[in-house]
Amino acid sequence: MDSNRSNRRDAPGPGKQEPSSGRSKAKNPWTERSAKQAPAPQPAEQEQPLTVPADEFPRKHVHQDALRVISRLSRQGHEAYLVGGCVRDLLLGRTPKDFDIATAAHPRHIRRLFRNARIIGRRFKLAHIFYGDHILETSTFRAAPRPEDNGEGDDLLITDDNAFGTAAEDARRRDFTINGLFFDPIENVIHDYVGGLADVEAGLLRTIGDPTVRMAEDPVRILRAIKFATRIGFRIDDSTWKAMCENSGELERAAPPRVLEEIMRLCVSGTALGAFRMMRASGALAVLMPEIDAYIGKRDDPDPVAHDRADNYWRLLEALDADVHAGREPSRALCLAVMYLRVVERELDPETRTLPGEPNDVFDVVSDVLEPLVQDSRLPRRTFITTRRMIVDQERFKKRPGSDPRSLVFTTTDGFDDALDLYRLRSAAWGQGWAMYEAWAAARAETAKASPDALAALRKKGRRRRSRRPRRRKRGGGASE
Ligand code: ATP
Ligand code: MG
Repeated sequence: MDSNRSNRRDAPGPGKQEPSSGRSKAKNPWTERSAKQAPAPQPAEQEQPLTVPADEFPRKHVHQDALRVISRLSRQGHEAYLVGGCVRDLLLGRTPKDFDIATAAHPRHIRRLFRNARIIGRRFKLAHIFYGDHILETSTFRAAPRPEDNGEGDDLLITDDNAFGTAAEDARRRDFTINGLFFDPIENVIHDYVGGLADVEAGLLRTIGDPTVRMAEDPVRILRAIKFATRIGFRIDDSTWKAMCENSGELERAAPPRVLEEIMRLCVSGTALGAFRMMRASGALAVLMPEIDAYIGKRDDPDPVAHDRADNYWRLLEALDADVHAGREPSRALCLAVMYLRVVERELDPETRTLPGEPNDVFDVVSDVLEPLVQDSRLPRRTFITTRRMIVDQERFKKRPGSDPRSLVFTTTDGFDDALDLYRLRSAAWGQGWAMYEAWAAARAETAKASPDALAALRKKGRRRRSRRPRRRKRGGGASE
């Protein structure tokens, strides 16, 4: 497959709700200067970093606490830099989520210097430095794992990663060139051991070092590549993409909780549509969520029904992305419901069911579909239960609110807002039921205003209705109590 082409084809197209790529803002003179260094230096050969003045770096966006930690470390003679995602994001004119620090100081030095530091990690120790509820992750430079730290024989999978190293080694063990840059706020320079500056300028995502080795070492990097490429709109370098496709099967060996975490991040990124398309194109979706991959089907399936199915799936993800762009933060339970709703519907229909046996009710089908995630990925049971409730409750939106007192009681229950969120996304995605959504949202607003007495009366009315049912059935001669 022409990786590059498929890459472009599967990346979210222009006009889709994607966060604006920070690239257009990356017009700092020093990044332009660095672009002249292209082609990017080969990391393994480059002992000295490319050091570039960061005059135009938006230093004022660096958190004061981070500057405080770095100046104290360097006053004590320890090399210390901002590193990783925050440097990348600042270069792109984006707001960093957090500020990570890498230093030559050992955890015990950090502990001694900062009374507000707590050492965490069992194997590789790093420090969390607390300023109120703001935490700065401060880690000691780490070396790349030695061959004896990996799996057996030729197996490259990293199973142990806990050796301290130099700044250069620390940069090279990171995943992508754009994530391997160091910013020194004291000297106001960027140190680039890995060719990251040129790649930021070129809008290119590539691994540090041999992509095949780096993806085999840690297949979760496949999902991370997808996350960064879709989030910041970078093109994935051809050989990195090829290694992603070739190693997608290795994702089976990655720790399921880590994988689930990355997938959840993709869901709330605002670019879930592009990310899922890229997961499918790379083969990762077939390995990680085969039911979803099978539901979406093959790109080249000539059957128009299959295309409609895929289209409907994509539209729901698009609605989720639109929610994120509107400033909402979808819960994990909602993400899960969006991912699996169509699969559940398929399993409920005896015509399309793929699981063995006859479908039971929707409650059981959701359990059948999601139970493996609870078992393998340590999906919190509470999230699973909320998702199941959301999907089961969709049925109730078929009737208008107020058609019986229980429907109004439903609007006051804990799970109502979640279920209505899912219904709203469905309506937005598939263009049906919007009037019904508005009616339920209005009913919810009304009951929210109701006095406690009025609510109590409503609940009583709803309960009375429900309790009459078994008696009626008993009179019919069927049900026994
Ligand atoms: P985000 O904005 O999503 O937090 P990030 O780049 O900060 O992006 P983190 O998961 O917070 O990502 O990791 C911080 C840094 O640690 C990365 O920028 C990268 O340098 C390094 N890193 C994280 N995960 C890996 C990995 N699997 N392999 C190698 N390096 C990694
Ligand atoms: Mg981060």
